[in-house]
Amino acid sequence: MITVLRIGHRPDRDKRITTHVALVSRVFGADRIIVDKVDDKLARTIDNVTRKFGGKFEIGFGNYMEEIRKFKGTKVHLTMYGMPLESKIKEIKKSEDIMVIVGSEKVPRIIYDVSDFNVAVKNQPHSEVSALSIFLDRLGRSKELNGELRIIPEERGKRVLRIPGRDECIALLEKYGADERLKRHSIMCSRVALKIGEGCNSDARLLEAGALLHDIGRTVTHSIFHGVEGYRILKREGMDETIARFCSTHVGAGLLKSTARKLKLPDQDYIPRTIEEKIVCNSDTLLNGDRVVKIEEITEDYRRKGLYSEIPRLKRLYSYLEDKCGFSIDELIKLNEQ
Ligand code: SAM
Repeated sequence: MITVLRIGHRPDRDKRITTHVALVSRVFGADRIIVDKVDDKLARTIDNVTRKFGGKFEIGFGNYMEEIRKFKGTKVHLTMYGMPLESKIKEIKKSEDIMVIVGSEKVPRIIYDVSDFNVAVKNQPHSEVSALSIFLDRLGRSKELNGELRIIPEERGKRVLRIPGRDECIALLEKYGADERLKRHSIMCSRVALKIGEGCNSDARLLEAGALLHDIGRTVTHSIFHGVEGYRILKREGMDETIARFCSTHVGAGLLKSTARKLKLPDQDYIPRTIEEKIVCNSDTLLNGDRVVKIEEITEDYRRKGLYSEIPRLKRLYSYLEDKCGFSIDELIKLNEQ
């Protein structure tokens, strides 16, 4: 648990800088910030960012001496007068529970005495925002922050991906007339996908949305075109390509361009590329309605339908994810009973 204690906040003068102290805390791995003067506007701004961009970051208010007295872990005061960060960081890293204290104007003498470490990020005056970000970065406790919005890195442009939540996805299925069977299948697909995704570095919110929406095209047709139809629906709904592609890339183990041509689908390949697309595609494959079945049953079914050429790709995708995410089919089958 990392707590940042911001002392000397003056709501009228320090609005921007305390906001930045809180934003830095959230992004670089702190779990909460305590500010020594109540500032509702500040709390609203930070809660808003956390809701949109993710994580469990909290903001609270309290008297700084009381907060320090209550705190049982290691207290690190950042000050230009302290010992160089490089000489102390190894020792500080041994603590699980850390309170990082930053000031604004002149910091009271007592803070130097009650802190376990007085640490400088270079013995030069600069700012609480820079000192805190460098300190937290060196501490190395930042974690994935998966909210509704993701910034997709671009060389030049600005691209922000919004991922719909579970309720929004289900409401969308209903808007297009999904029956109970389709909803049950989609919900089970999301449970399987989330379970597989636990074992590897994947985006849980994206997985859930992709799995819930992958079959929305079945509200139009149950033919092989349902993937493309689903893609069109989601694009019409203003969703990003990243979400819409779950529809077009989940059919079979993904379709090669040559297969797509034979099936008279729009001329392109429909191969799942990202880890999330691969997991959703594989999760769907493992489902018979809303029940998880073994891969052998699926391949047998493909054989019966004469889809021989698809079997090796199906198995390859399964083994790839088994290897990468370490999922066990027995664990997935247990989901049938829950
Ligand atoms: N002279 C002030 C004092 O009493 O430390 C400095 C105020 S400075 C504008 C605001 C805060 O930035 C400080 O309380 C401290 O937490 C942080 N800070 C500034 N320079 C720092 C440095 N070189 N190393 C660590 N923290 C620093």
